[in-house]
Amino acid sequence: MTTPTLDLNNGVSIPQLGFGVFQVPPKDTADIVTQALDVGYRHIDTALAYHNEQGVGEAIASSSLSRDDVFVTTKLWNYDQGTDAAFKAFDASLERLGFDVLDLYLIHWPAPQQDRYVDTWKAFEQLYADGRIRAIGVSNFRVEDLQRLLDLGLTVPVVNQIELHPYLTQDELRIFHDKHEIVTEAWSPIAQGAVLDDPVITELARAKDATPAQVVIAWHLALGNVVIPKSVTPDRIAENFASTEVELAGDEIDAISALNRNERTGPDPWEFPG
Ligand code: NDP
Repeated sequence: MTTPTLDLNNGVSIPQLGFGVFQVPPKDTADIVTQALDVGYRHIDTALAYHNEQGVGEAIASSSLSRDDVFVTTKLWNYDQGTDAAFKAFDASLERLGFDVLDLYLIHWPAPQQDRYVDTWKAFEQLYADGRIRAIGVSNFRVEDLQRLLDLGLTVPVVNQIELHPYLTQDELRIFHDKHEIVTEAWSPIAQGAVLDDPVITELARAKDATPAQVVIAWHLALGNVVIPKSVTPDRIAENFASTEVELAGDEIDAISALNRNERTGPDPWEFPG
């Protein structure tokens, strides 16, 4: 089984289905990521804030895969915003991962109260120009944050990683992303489980002989999102990866999109970190 890939706006290819490691305990991360690699995932999503970059790097180093076979994302945390702090944070993340080059680095939150993401982004541009990152992107950016980078003539982020699932379809951002060739990447893609009991999802799962999580992940793939479900449960790690085999018709995709309630499970980028 292989996963589809998408081309980012700088020509780098990203596996569309990845594996998220938020809330994977640091001591278990190498084992869990090894399981994910064994199942076939070739894209891992971590962050400084998850305290498990080291385990991600260890799993890849001890696998039979070459470094180039696995696409790895990590993220800069809010207290590392600003030019010098960003350079230091990047070096530290790369060291914990044990890599020479990172695939994708994201600003984790715009943190509008700090108003430092433009300087942070310029530091990212420098790291990219120096060949230390293959692609640079953002996370939890609002339309106004993306527009600000564009108005300043800065590099267009390759992705914006945002909370997105059937109860929060993020239509405004997705339209903006499409217009500017920014890939939409979905975090909490199954709303941490909250959408799995929805009757529309469970009925589709029954009809497709699939699981509710597979139906939701297949919906993300059909919309063109990069999607990074997390699990520490071996059967679910495999189940989620097999979502690429579930095909949804246009009306089925629309029925899931119609579940939108603009309901967040995580923090609001207007307010976080407060
Ligand atoms: P998810 O929507 O991926 O849900 C994870 C939860 O669902 C876990 O409790 C997991 O349980 C459970 N689960 C996973 N698969 C199944 C399944 N097949 N059936 C039933 N339950 C299942 O939430 P996350 O918040 O973890 O988001 C995914 C990733 O997105 C993160 O790991 C992280 O990489 C990224 N993220 C990014 C953020 C950002 O600000 N940029 C914020 C939050 C997340 P269990 O593990 O016990 O199996």
